[in-house]
Amino acid sequence: MNQSWVERQRPLNQAPVRPGPVICWLSRDLRAEDHWGLISAQDAAIQRRVPLIAVFCWQPDHLNAPDHSQAFLLSGLAMLKEDLSALNIPLILIEGHPGLVIPSVAEQLGAGEVFCDFSPLRLPRQQRDAVAASLSVRLTEVDTHNIIPCWLAYPKQAFGAHILRPFIQRQLAAWLTPFPQMERHPFTDEKLQTDERLILQDLPPLSPDQLLKQRYRLPRHFPRPGSRTAQAQLIQFVEKTLYRYDQRNDPNADACSALSPWLHFGQLSAQRVALTVRRSINEAGDADTPDQLMLQNNAASFLEELIVRRELSDNFCFYQPDYDQVSGFPDWARETLNRHREDPRPYLYHLEQLSAAETEDPLWNAAQTDLRVNGRMHGYLRMYWAKKILEWSFDPESALAAAIDLNDQLALDGRDPNGYTGIAWSIGGVHDRAWGERPIFGKIRYMSLAGCRRKFDVDLYIRTVMT
Ligand SMILES: Cc1cc2nc3c(=O)[nH]c(=O)nc-3n(C[C@H](O)[C@H](O)[C@H](O)COP(=O)(O)OP(=O)(O)OC[C@H]3O[C@@H](n4cnc5c(N)ncnc54)[C@H](O)[C@@H]3O)c2cc1C
Repeated sequence: MNQSWVERQRPLNQAPVRPGPVICWLSRDLRAEDHWGLISAQDAAIQRRVPLIAVFCWQPDHLNAPDHSQAFLLSGLAMLKEDLSALNIPLILIEGHPGLVIPSVAEQLGAGEVFCDFSPLRLPRQQRDAVAASLSVRLTEVDTHNIIPCWLAYPKQAFGAHILRPFIQRQLAAWLTPFPQMERHPFTDEKLQTDERLILQDLPPLSPDQLLKQRYRLPRHFPRPGSRTAQAQLIQFVEKTLYRYDQRNDPNADACSALSPWLHFGQLSAQRVALTVRRSINEAGDADTPDQLMLQNNAASFLEELIVRRELSDNFCFYQPDYDQVSGFPDWARETLNRHREDPRPYLYHLEQLSAAETEDPLWNAAQTDLRVNGRMHGYLRMYWAKKILEWSFDPESALAAAIDLNDQLALDGRDPNGYTGIAWSIGGVHDRAWGERPIFGKIRYMSLAGCRRKFDVDLYIRTVMT
């Protein structure tokens, strides 16, 4: 049985639905198509024959987002505004705290109900709670970032991929369904069309284009934002690279999708990615040749990362309130790290030295340089990078803080559940098991430069990044 989009919704307050336009408050998922929140909001608006209005609250210092992230976000919003406008859905961009902005906009527009995106992270959840408490109309949350809504995939913290995987496998067929297409919205808010500034007093709407010109610049060598670029990157990956995804642990092989920035900013739906990969496998026919078998195996590995690992990260951040603290690590990991607190460190680097890639390890420096200059780091090196920070920090608390700080400040896909979970995996054994005991790490899995040399051509990687 297919799960209809109604089952993706959950009300966040007890307020009634009233007459008046429907607002879709967008935050994590910023695309016009493949968006269950917009689909739900349009369905509600059409049933009640009212306009549909999208709102985005822009917070210049949200989770300390760096300038390149703000530029990627705002460019994407400018394109989203056009895409939504073609569907007769105005997108209003307002600066401020959602807890103040959304209830005020809802009141000034006489909204009948509000839909919003889901995020498992602390600040967005606090903001949704504040909006739910102050709205006088119903607020409904729709998880359109995950394929299976996070609160339905598994009812508590899953302590490893092996716990979540069978639950996902059992439910996936019901949720991994095609998206209905958004239609041109048949009802228009005439007053808003005349001049949104006259209606939204004290809340002057902003133009993403102007903000971009005034304040932010996306370096030329960064990936280009927007849903159309994301789709093109997806097609290119599926057609040209997926068949060799088994080389994904080699940073020189260029075998990964590089989709994480668009997935992070919600300009691309993970469900669309999974559907596209599935379709390409079906079109390739039965696995009766070695090439097709290899493609199928690679697609299965990719879907494991895209679905199980990614949704496991949302599960961790949703159910573990201390997802960015040592107290969020499993008991065995905290015990073993505590036992090795006093172990001498081979080097101690402070945040500025790490940030500037000034360590004794050329591989680490190259990975950090890629992060600082290009806003990205290969997935395999991310694990090594975070583990080295543990080895070189005074204690696990400062290691965790430094890794989160650098990742959030420099990575284009940073400030994401995948980042908090990946760092907690590397430093705190989250979703991992105990390994052989050694200094500093205790039973946390260790990675070494020699181990990397056995896996890939370390010197080639260093040369490629540093020249
Ligand atoms: C220390 C550390 C920090 C990380 N920080 C981030 C981050 O800030 N943002 C981020 O999106 N990912 C992060 N990851 C997870 C992973 O490394 C990246 O998602 C991946 O490297 C992105 O490259 P890609 O899109 O080419 O991945 P692909 O290999 O092509 O995978 C496709 C998608 O699957 C998901 N995925 C892949 N690997 C993982 C994983 N291990 N855990 C969860 N989801 C995964 C991502 O959404 C990814 O875009 C981090 C991992 C570690 C160990």
